[in-house]
Amino acid sequence: MLRLDLARLDREGSVELNARLPAASALWEGSGVEWDSPVEVKLTASLAGSREIVVRGCLNGRLKQECKRCLKPVGSSMEHELTLVFVSADEESAEEDEGVHLYGQGTEIDLSNAVREEVVFAVDPYVICRSDCEGLCSRCGINRNKQKCNCTEDHTDPRWEALRVLKEK
Ligand SMILES: [Zn+2]
Ligand SMILES: [Zn+2]
Repeated sequence: MLRLDLARLDREGSVELNARLPAASALWEGSGVEWDSPVEVKLTASLAGSREIVVRGCLNGRLKQECKRCLKPVGSSMEHELTLVFVSADEESAEEDEGVHLYGQGTEIDLSNAVREEVVFAVDPYVICRSDCEGLCSRCGINRNKQKCNCTEDHTDPRWEALRVLKEK
């Protein structure tokens, strides 16, 4: 879907790639990123030097996330601009780096993994439903936005709590 035809790029100097990646695309599998809508991708690939390709563009879609405090579903739209650089793996100095990808021989480059990487990097996994979300009680699990519980107000760090339980065994 996001394949760049190298012969065409050579001929035309720049190639536009537009795609609509389904929310359920295998591309997102295991990435930890979930979508509520298809992801629109608009990219322009240009030759920069003989063996370097720069891909610029943007993608947008609606993210499906969970509040880190109370687990309520949180939807938000994501619009992300990206620049990807592809360097021929034959190049002496070619080195994979942040935002720099190598491409081998072949008639096309599959951009999808680079796009996936970019998305995973750009999505903030720590969303909350609202700034004053009280979250779940770490003791009884009650949603403290909706109910009050009688647990003591001592907010022991749950990690220490787990350690304490271990020690008592
Ligand atoms: Zn929340
Ligand atoms: Zn509680």
